[in-house]
Amino acid sequence: PYTGPPAEEVLALRKQYLSPSLFLHFKKPVMIVEGKMQYLYDERGRRYLDAFAGIVTVSVGHCHPAVTEAIHRQNSLLQHTTTIYLNNQIAEYAKELADRMPGNLKVVYFVNSGSEANDMAIMMARLHTGNWDLICLRNAYHGMSIGTMGTCGQHTWKQPMPQGFGYHHALNPDPYRGAFGDDGPRYAADVADLISAATPGRVAGFVAESIQGVGGAVPLATGYLPEVYKMIRAAGGVCIADEVQTGFGRTGSHYWGFQRQGVTPDIVTMAKGIGNGLPLAAVVTTPEIAASMAGRLHFNTYGGNPVCSAGGRAVLRVVDEERRQEHCAAVGAHLTTRLQALAAKHDIIGDVRGAGLMLGVELVKDRKTKEPAKAETAAVMETMKDLGVLMGKGGLHGNVFRIKPPMCFSARDADFLVEVMDVALDKL
Ligand code: PMP
Repeated sequence: PYTGPPAEEVLALRKQYLSPSLFLHFKKPVMIVEGKMQYLYDERGRRYLDAFAGIVTVSVGHCHPAVTEAIHRQNSLLQHTTTIYLNNQIAEYAKELADRMPGNLKVVYFVNSGSEANDMAIMMARLHTGNWDLICLRNAYHGMSIGTMGTCGQHTWKQPMPQGFGYHHALNPDPYRGAFGDDGPRYAADVADLISAATPGRVAGFVAESIQGVGGAVPLATGYLPEVYKMIRAAGGVCIADEVQTGFGRTGSHYWGFQRQGVTPDIVTMAKGIGNGLPLAAVVTTPEIAASMAGRLHFNTYGGNPVCSAGGRAVLRVVDEERRQEHCAAVGAHLTTRLQALAAKHDIIGDVRGAGLMLGVELVKDRKTKEPAKAETAAVMETMKDLGVLMGKGGLHGNVFRIKPPMCFSARDADFLVEVMDVALDKL
């Protein structure tokens, strides 16, 4: 049983000693002190079904035994040295990760967070191409570092200070809210416009998630990325895929989210699910792009340290051995069908979208105007929490449920989630 301070005391400590801009997801905060696969436990031992996985980070399950075992073993052998010495873990891990990449994406850089990975990807793009401008998407999220804040496409994530220069935000190819529906190539025309109007005609690159996560589980419109990748490469740029949320089989049909659009990027960034909660992230690129950075030294104190590498390797093994990608496809399809049935019953559900176990449910006050039902989303989320289901939410207006559970989430868990959501929607 939990023996630490009570939740009220933890809240008081947090208010006094942690950042005042932290946010909580519930009116009455939940305190989580234990996790087991798709379940979380509060300080009183109450169990919750976890549909958000620590913001899409716990990929194979909370305290998955194979990952825990690998970390423990390495922890008692060697915790840290850095890359000034040889160690097998980081080298074998790099190979195992590269083996899972398509094309010529074979050089791996290990870092510690998604922001750091995207910072590095942007630097690589600029060094390799000799160009500066970067095309990003409205509604995107790529991190909170000084280098990535400018790529974000929501004002709520931008501090009121210069965001860096050379970031240009294209129209979001949002099938639900965008002007051109699911017509990817029509949105792509805006990228061509941006290149010719806002840049010298040459760009460093383009960065996007294939399904926007923080932005509210928004899949890019069909056929968007192939068109944009062509335009970017014609303007001298490289294409960066942010797989921080969409990687490792979560989208079900493919191992990597970008594969859903049939493209192969030049640089891929990953974090979150890569380490099942360990502070681990990576950038994978081609030998040619890596060579552009080789004129100077490269070092990262913790990147790929033995413990994180051992844990990351265990994640790769579990995803394969437990066939998590196929599982995400099957459970995701079942959950989507059930959510669509719920939408037929509740007018407040404006859209059900996503792929595999990366789903979004958008609540609107009116299906025609699509006015965001922000307060209702918060209320439903609170009721669902009281009934034992922890949901995620996102989108600029906070009116999209983000359902991105640990990948061990079962069809029965999906049924429970939908039944609880039904009750919570009825209660509105
Ligand atoms: N990219 C995406 C798509 C993300 O969702 C996030 C985190 N929400 C990041 C980058 C940044 O990752 P981190 O918080 O580890 O810096």
